[in-house]
Amino acid sequence: MGRHTEAVCRLCRREKDKLYLKGDRCYSDKCAVVRHAYPPGEHGQARQKFSEYGMQLREKQKARRIYGVMERQFRRYFKEADRRRGVTGEILIQILESRLDNVAYRLGLGRSRAEARQLINHGHFEVNGRKVDIPSYLIKVGDIIAVRENRKSKPVFKEISEDRGQQGTVDWLEVDHEKLQGQVLRMPQRDEIDVPVTEHLIVELYSR
Ligand code: SF4
Repeated sequence: MGRHTEAVCRLCRREKDKLYLKGDRCYSDKCAVVRHAYPPGEHGQARQKFSEYGMQLREKQKARRIYGVMERQFRRYFKEADRRRGVTGEILIQILESRLDNVAYRLGLGRSRAEARQLINHGHFEVNGRKVDIPSYLIKVGDIIAVRENRKSKPVFKEISEDRGQQGTVDWLEVDHEKLQGQVLRMPQRDEIDVPVTEHLIVELYSR
């Protein structure tokens, strides 16, 4: 599956916003957005004026980058959100939030979504007792997400436990840090999801 290969901090600088793609570094003074609050490249410091389409496009790119989703899959999520009853933009964000890699990150079982994705790919996780190695797997209310028993002693999980603290927890998930697992209590409301995305611009973009 395709992935972003560009240096991830450049992605944040391009969006002029912290996308929290790198774990602990994102919370420190070393964050590239803190040090260079302008887009990368030769014209990064020039004044930028976006057209309506440009703003919609940037918002969609920002959401894709935060969740690490490629264009084709992102469009599929949009179609699904559009099909469901309710506010399409909010449902889109809710679907993205219910990806297993995001939930593992929210549970503090990965320091970034990218790390959680890699750990899932390596077969370290299970959902309701069954191994799941698909980061895009969509979790449901009541699901129990855990590090598999025979993987809990891996040094990476010790490191993650030691580094935990900055990420914070969310109310819609119940976390058991000792057992390296958590449960989905309910799906989050939009105001509980701290992603800096104006989703109605994405809806406008795809409705053009
Ligand atoms: Fe890099 Fe994280 Fe800062 Fe983004 S938020 S620029 S990924 S350190």
